[in-house]
Amino acid sequence: MALYVQKYGGTSVGSIERIEAVADKVKSFHDAGHQMVVAVSAMSGETNRLIGLAKGISETPDPREMDVLVSTGEQVTIALLSMALQKRGINARSFTGWQAGIKTDHSYMKARIEDIDTTDMRKQLDKGGVVIVAGFQGVDEEHNITTLGRGGSDTTGVALAAALQADECQIYTDVDGVYTTDPRVVPAARRMEKVTFEEMLEMASLGSKVLQIRSVEFAGKYKVPLRVLSSFKEGNGTLITMEENSSVENPVISGIAFNRDEAKVTVKGVPDVPGVASRILVPVSDANIEVDMIVQNVSADGTTDFTFTVNRSDYQKALTILKNVAAELKAREVTGTDDICKVSMVGVGMRSHAGVASKMFKVLADENINILAITTSEIKISVVIAEKYLELAVRALHTAFGLDAEATEEQ
Ligand code: ASP
Ligand code: MG
Repeated sequence: MALYVQKYGGTSVGSIERIEAVADKVKSFHDAGHQMVVAVSAMSGETNRLIGLAKGISETPDPREMDVLVSTGEQVTIALLSMALQKRGINARSFTGWQAGIKTDHSYMKARIEDIDTTDMRKQLDKGGVVIVAGFQGVDEEHNITTLGRGGSDTTGVALAAALQADECQIYTDVDGVYTTDPRVVPAARRMEKVTFEEMLEMASLGSKVLQIRSVEFAGKYKVPLRVLSSFKEGNGTLITMEENSSVENPVISGIAFNRDEAKVTVKGVPDVPGVASRILVPVSDANIEVDMIVQNVSADGTTDFTFTVNRSDYQKALTILKNVAAELKAREVTGTDDICKVSMVGVGMRSHAGVASKMFKVLADENINILAITTSEIKISVVIAEKYLELAVRALHTAFGLDAEATEEQ
């Protein structure tokens, strides 16, 4: 007998029919003798609908009332799912965030869970009952309702699993796992059986948006075994684990992530003297612009070129700031482009394999793709290229590094 925390996302509870299907699934686990705690999202589209209502009144609604409003979506699904389970003869009971003892800090719309008092949930489990918890919400010290940020029900699921020391946290969603890259770009993309927390974080931050990032961080910190599965299709999904697979057949690269949302700015002909990097970057960060990759050229004539990437939505703002800085620094000119993208290969296998970067650059060179900037970390290599080459680059790398479905034996 195990204790499972299952989380069902918006599409999984998007209609009465689907809620009935979730009830069947939960019942089958319960009938097999497992203790079940289920966290649910609002029905798909509901949170957006509620936000729309608020925006109809004010462009800047009060954050406290916003949380009172958007938390209602999940309250609907816990009641309906509990009714569906009761209809199946199961003692199910709904818990709002505060009833489940989920205590958060005070930051409305992006609250962090600080503690979970599991007493009342335990009582229900001890009676042989099923616990149904509203995802995405908690309560602060002053009893205000708070929410955890968009996609926050994933974090509710993981936090419940950590607090209850569940055997596994299962996130049911509309995809059947985490893929080696976006299957819409590479049809041969393959579901991964396993991925490490570290890899998942690198890929999530780069745009593989299967799970709320914070839930992955949380699961890694509290060592909660986390599995992503489809509500609609049978299968093992993808297990996100601490363990690094040391088997020799294991691929060096686990996945390829990409991000189109990039822009690049360059200050040319900056005097090459101490303090230049900070004089360029401080005004940028003061304007709340996040800088990603930074490249400074070596230069012979006493000046250098300084390039960095920013989110595409910050591109114009960054250019304006740099034009001012360039004038102060007596730099030659400021240039930029926003038709670039970032492609990143991720894999813990890189730690023990040399030559990954050179192979990557060779693959891109063979496709005549120019690399505009490069960064590396222990388990990731990222390049910036022209956006029009994104699909070509990702497909070529996916094939070259043996990730294509056909290329693997188990397929
Ligand atoms: N209902 C919330 C949202 O749409 C939380 C969630 O579904 O995870 O963001
Ligand atoms: Mg979600």
